[in-house]
Amino acid sequence: TNIPEILPSGITKYEALGKELDYKKIVPRCVEVRGFKVKVSKIPVPVLYGPAFEGERVRKENLYVEFGGKKSTGFEFLKYSAMDTLEDGKIEVIGPDIDSIKEQSLPLGIVVTLGSRNANKDFEPIIERQIHRYINEAQGVMHLGQRDIIWVRVSQEAFKKGFRLKHFGTILHAQIHQEYSAIVDKVQITIYSDQKEVENVLEEARKAYKERDERISGMTDESVDDFYSCALCQSFAPNHICVITPERLGLCGAYSWLDAKANFQISPAGANQPIQKGPILDDRLGQWKSVNDFVHEKSNKSVEKISMYSLLESPQTSCGCFECIVALIPEANGFMVVNRDYTGETPLGMTFTTLAGSVGGGVQAPGFLGVGRYYLTSRKFILADGGLQRIVWMPKSLKQFLGDKLYERAKEVGFPDLPDQIADETIATE
Ligand code: SF4
Ligand code: ZN
Repeated sequence: TNIPEILPSGITKYEALGKELDYKKIVPRCVEVRGFKVKVSKIPVPVLYGPAFEGERVRKENLYVEFGGKKSTGFEFLKYSAMDTLEDGKIEVIGPDIDSIKEQSLPLGIVVTLGSRNANKDFEPIIERQIHRYINEAQGVMHLGQRDIIWVRVSQEAFKKGFRLKHFGTILHAQIHQEYSAIVDKVQITIYSDQKEVENVLEEARKAYKERDERISGMTDESVDDFYSCALCQSFAPNHICVITPERLGLCGAYSWLDAKANFQISPAGANQPIQKGPILDDRLGQWKSVNDFVHEKSNKSVEKISMYSLLESPQTSCGCFECIVALIPEANGFMVVNRDYTGETPLGMTFTTLAGSVGGGVQAPGFLGVGRYYLTSRKFILADGGLQRIVWMPKSLKQFLGDKLYERAKEVGFPDLPDQIADETIATE
């Protein structure tokens, strides 16, 4: 309540809320910040629609039908196609609609096809990732995950009010036009709910996901001329700036170098700006004069220099959205990592939330670092401090999330069994 539609610049979040809240306890997520800026739009669907419903859950007692998750196949995929093959606003449903089924679970494939005179493959994953937010903002509809791990639920109330499969399309059509009019002319949507059809199209989608991943994983910090900044979180951490390189994604995990580059093309005056690399100052720490100058200027002169590859010497600052915290355990002469989803104790005697209080807020905290999960498997992961082989502890869920990537990287550094040698909470928490 009482949140202004547009947050005036310079006003921090808790002031805007008009409450005295401990900033550090908020541990804000980027998405909340973006929520302030999104206008509540009139979308022709039979349920209420707006950012207020984004975090809403649909519980089992309330469930009418669900898609994906553990029960069925579910995916979403967005691509550009030739303009003349598309009809703007066309929404097709292939398979049974939700008023003609008896079971509570259906497969789902959401395919969005865009037409544009300035189509660019780099934009596809960025707009695709908004599907999560767009669908979530409908009352009584819950959306989790992305790509081929989505989980969508529709509540009994939403169904009674008339929500049907085609409304996923109505929402996506309206929202993509509203937010991406500069790079999108036509939006066409096909919703699949027939198992065979879902599987057919999923094959094409998986090929595209893989190509996207390969494009970024083949890139190195040395192979590019520019890094990118991200200043999105300055609305609540005014001195924080993320520097994003091909081998180090934003600490929230949501922005890779390719994403930042594409965002810059979409809005040249926006939050992602190129930083021309120029000559390197220290290749062990990963310090560039241009990066230091940029960060000094944009951090309101509060941070003089940052190392891209160290958490002990001039580490990057953290806003509060980090997926993981890496921290020094002096007694073990190593580091531990804890991810946001892990709520238990860590060997430092602190939970993720307690630790987050001392890491966030845009200050440099040597020995602590907020990072995106995939930075752990980067070849540049805290290279100056010894890299992956210095990790002595991480929660099991994080090991599972990183999966094969962690084993591949361990092999590369010459310790193929490392992931099994890193302790987790089932071994010890002290
Ligand atoms: Fe915030 Fe950094 Fe993520 Fe940008 S990349 S949204 S500044 S955490
Ligand atoms: Zn942030």
